Amino acid sequence: MSSLLPPTPPGASPVTPPTRPVIDYRLPSPLPRALVVCDFDYSLIDADSDEWAITLGGTRPDAEVAMTRMAARHRDGENWVHLVNEEIAGLFESKALADVTALRNLLATIPMHRGTVALLHDLHARNVDVIVVSDANTFFIESILESYGVRHCVRDIITNQSRVVRSVSGHDLLEIAPLQTKPSAPINGSGKLVAANCPRQRCNWNLCKSAQLAEYLSSRIQYDRVFYVGDGYNDLCPLALGLVDCAFVRADRRLHRELFAVESVENLVAELAVGMPVRQGYSCRANTNTVVRDGDREPWYVAQTRVPCAAVLWSTGDELQARVVRELERV
Ligand SMILES: [Mg+2]
Ligand SMILES: [Zn+2]
Repeated sequence: MSSLLPPTPPGASPVTPPTRPVIDYRLPSPLPRALVVCDFDYSLIDADSDEWAITLGGTRPDAEVAMTRMAARHRDGENWVHLVNEEIAGLFESKALADVTALRNLLATIPMHRGTVALLHDLHARNVDVIVVSDANTFFIESILESYGVRHCVRDIITNQSRVVRSVSGHDLLEIAPLQTKPSAPINGSGKLVAANCPRQRCNWNLCKSAQLAEYLSSRIQYDRVFYVGDGYNDLCPLALGLVDCAFVRADRRLHRELFAVESVENLVAELAVGMPVRQGYSCRANTNTVVRDGDREPWYVAQTRVPCAAVLWSTGDELQARVVRELERV
């Protein structure tokens, strides 16, 4: 510090550096911090992006054959991400997709509800963090969010990795790789390869959303509330393990059926027994043994029994927008 001070003139006493005043920059009472975790396919968008790409938005003549073939191989144990990668490579090879720009243009035609777009803008304006946790891939998700002008509203995207590479024949193509590494052997005794980090030992080996979310939450600031928007079976893991305070569940899809499937309650209790600790500090009438309705006017708000969080049902992007905002403003 003394080297920055002017030289002391002859005969004068040395200059004492001024002491910097201590200022407390902390704000007096910060607002509750909320995180909104979003699945992508059939949650933020109204389609499955893998299927959209593989069937060329439904225009591919052998679309049904291709999807049926993939589903059969998936049932036989092949990982979905590898199957999608193979199909997309085939579309480039056959010139059904001219180049990566054609794929990006195709993805831009995927439907996303105006209410969902408005919700993402609204959350961004409110300084609410939004992340996507999805079994699609980075290229699909970023392309679609960019085409709707909402990429900047999403803080982080946790998904399978993709990159544009140059093929041996000199064309650009997309390479999609699993987010998590393949375990060397089945770990749950069923013969199925599951994610090594899945506490329930249920998720496909390339992605366990609860493990990814737990890691994300532990690496960042403490959120007061965690909301989750989802529709599928792989959205059950983070809900079952108590990482979420309120789940926005798309009505009449797989997650909805799982949450309310009375016949498999015993299975869920067994799964919860190997789970992680439930988040503390937010009370949203969870863990009650009865369906709670805010009068009969809100049949979509349920504090149900299968997972330790409240559930809000929704069907359209408009409903999702209104109900997320409403829950956000419920203090
Ligand atoms: Mg989904
Ligand atoms: Zn899992």
